[in-house]
Amino acid sequence: MSNILLAGGAGYIGSHTAAALLDAGYDVVIADNFVNSSPKSVERVEQITGKQIVLYEADVRDADAMKRIFREQKIDAVIHFAGLKAVGESVQKPIMYYRKNLDTVLSLLDAMQETGVNNIIFSSSATVYGEKNPIPYLETMPRGACTNPYSWTKSMTEQILEDAAKADPELSVILLRYFNPIGAHPSGMIGEDPQGIPNNLMPYVTQVAVGKRECLTIFGNDYPTPDGTCRRDYIHVVDLARGHVKAIDYIMQHKGVAVFNLGTGIPYSVTEIVETFERVNGVKVNHVYGPRRAGDLPEFYANSDKAREVLGWQTEKTLDDMCRDSWNWQKQNPNGYRV
Ligand code: NAD
Ligand code: UDP
Repeated sequence: MSNILLAGGAGYIGSHTAAALLDAGYDVVIADNFVNSSPKSVERVEQITGKQIVLYEADVRDADAMKRIFREQKIDAVIHFAGLKAVGESVQKPIMYYRKNLDTVLSLLDAMQETGVNNIIFSSSATVYGEKNPIPYLETMPRGACTNPYSWTKSMTEQILEDAAKADPELSVILLRYFNPIGAHPSGMIGEDPQGIPNNLMPYVTQVAVGKRECLTIFGNDYPTPDGTCRRDYIHVVDLARGHVKAIDYIMQHKGVAVFNLGTGIPYSVTEIVETFERVNGVKVNHVYGPRRAGDLPEFYANSDKAREVLGWQTEKTLDDMCRDSWNWQKQNPNGYRV
């Protein structure tokens, strides 16, 4: 069976993808510098699956370290999750974001070229569609103007990978554009573990519910949406992880560049998320309505027909599942992977 390197695989999406790949019979190697994760997530994936992972503590920007891993482990394909992802921080520290998020892909490509690894899947984002494309987003739409440096690093990395594939017909690239991943493994053993104050909605909701934070501020209720709060396409992280397994199956048999949206196609508002979370879990989430957050779009969601038709992938989990599993993880691990 093929050997898959998950660069940044100890993180939220990487750990769920590792579990899905192991369940599907793939071997998994993880390289992570734990800048935003813990080796505990890798141990937990081993417990869930009953299988072993080869783990390297390494910075993906270190091309020599990557070459050593490729040689030692005979890697067939790479999934590139590694990078920084805090939108607000990227506005404060743009140079650091461009340096760190672009160096990772450049070093990986250097190391892949030198060691003959020809398959790479990249964690891109719906944010590359920018502000002007109509919703739902389709893969055939052009990348747009991004609203922050983090999003630009996603857009630029897509361009880098496309150019690399153009120059090297042996290279296969899949760009996976994630919508809004939430939820956790149903076991409650792995989940999202943000450091400090969460930037994203669901970890904020769960931390309010568990009593770690006082109150959720809903950013804006005067948007042109049915209830005035922003609408997003939330996708269960386990469905997202299964999308990566389908993409791995596909990349092994196809050359060139392919782009896939991974979303449900159904938008939910912030208020609907809070209400569903409270109903499904029987807990209260204190919240107030506050001003809009700079850079937020009123609404976006995916057209994921291409992933369904080409990869044979579709989502299976509901919003109730997402809310239940997020809470199950938070309840069992009030401090995340820290004891
Ligand atoms: P995460 O922070 O939990 O995972 C990223 C992992 O990469 C972490 O384990 C971190 O320690 C590691 N890492 C970062 N820089 C590294 C480096 N230089 N060398 C080695 N390891 C490094 O984030 P996530 O939510 O799992 O996201 C994974 C990928 O998906 C990221 O690229 C992110 O930008 C992208 N993405 C995430 C979302 C989301 O909402 N979570 C949406 C769209 C795209
Ligand atoms: N949001 C909110 N309060 C928070 C965090 C997020 O109201 O504390 C809203 C945010 O304005 C957006 C939605 O929740 O409409 C999802 O935000 P998130 O940061 O999770 O994802 P984004 O879509 O911005 O990538």
